[in-house]
Amino acid sequence: MTASLGTDINHAAQLLRAGSLVAFATETVYGLGADATNVDAVAKVFAAKGRPTFDPLIVHLAGVDQLASVVATIPDAAQKLMDFFWPGPMTLLFPKKSLIPDLVTAGLETVAVRIPSHPLALELLKAADVPVAAPSANKFGSISPTTAQHVADQLGDEVDYILDGGSCSVGLESTIVSCLSDNIEVLRLGGLSVEQIEAVIGPVTLKQASSDPGKQAEESSAQLAPGMLKRHYAPNKLLVVVDSLSDIELQPADVLLLPWELVNVPKDLHQEILSERQDLTECAAHFFSALRRLDASDADRIVAVRFPEEGLGRALNDRLERASAR
Ligand code: AMP
Ligand code: MG
Repeated sequence: MTASLGTDINHAAQLLRAGSLVAFATETVYGLGADATNVDAVAKVFAAKGRPTFDPLIVHLAGVDQLASVVATIPDAAQKLMDFFWPGPMTLLFPKKSLIPDLVTAGLETVAVRIPSHPLALELLKAADVPVAAPSANKFGSISPTTAQHVADQLGDEVDYILDGGSCSVGLESTIVSCLSDNIEVLRLGGLSVEQIEAVIGPVTLKQASSDPGKQAEESSAQLAPGMLKRHYAPNKLLVVVDSLSDIELQPADVLLLPWELVNVPKDLHQEILSERQDLTECAAHFFSALRRLDASDADRIVAVRFPEEGLGRALNDRLERASAR
């Protein structure tokens, strides 16, 4: 079976309601969706991705009116963030209700929820009228998909339909925030910057993944955000990350991933420039596509230059670190 690709929302919604898998565009990356209340459908998501079941899924809703069916309480700080940033690239944690099976949350008592802003995603969620569990529509650990074709290339045989909403405008996964204690924590950097969140809610802390592999194994089974796994978002080729091209001896078979045009780049090396106008938002929107193109080239090695550590640059650097980890 090869999934058909199109814009038929009602067909996609019917498939979801029938327990099938539908990949769909969101503003962050393409999601691999299943009815979050149907444990058999959710099991297919883990199987299709090759995703370990200790890694919980984000539940997508069409609107806040659906929230009461899936969450037990709404912390005040979460309410404030929802009012500001939903629909949009921010996921919040809540104590869960029993409608959401344990498989979705990897046995946790909390559920991660988001309302996406992509119009097609919202229409699909509305038409399906069920909460939809959806991780990124790629094989576990590999580069996230930002076009329908990326999904077709990797999961075309596993999904029943791909709802094509064009290129993702944000291009990075959602920022995951926990307001479950008084200490507001960013569990995963993503498409909404820490600065934007702090402007609304005041200082937040960033959860750091342990660099100790033993500890990481413990943490991953304790269900830290897998966006926190050391190796993730990874190309097949060797990826080396540098602060500046002067830090590395470039080879003829290298290709370059650059935030913007840099001086003294050897002319004969292929380069992907993410934003001519030096805009980190534009860098994010082009990041995964560019990484895929470089991975598909016949180069031996991808050399990426780090982004400024501000705004979406932090999330981009986080993706580079994990994509380059061995
Ligand atoms: P993905 O959709 O593949 O980007 O992954 C979803 C992310 O949400 C993962 O990093 C999960 O760990 C995170 N997540 C989902 N549910 C929870 C939860 N209850 N607590 C902490 N993180 C969660
Ligand atoms: Mg993912």
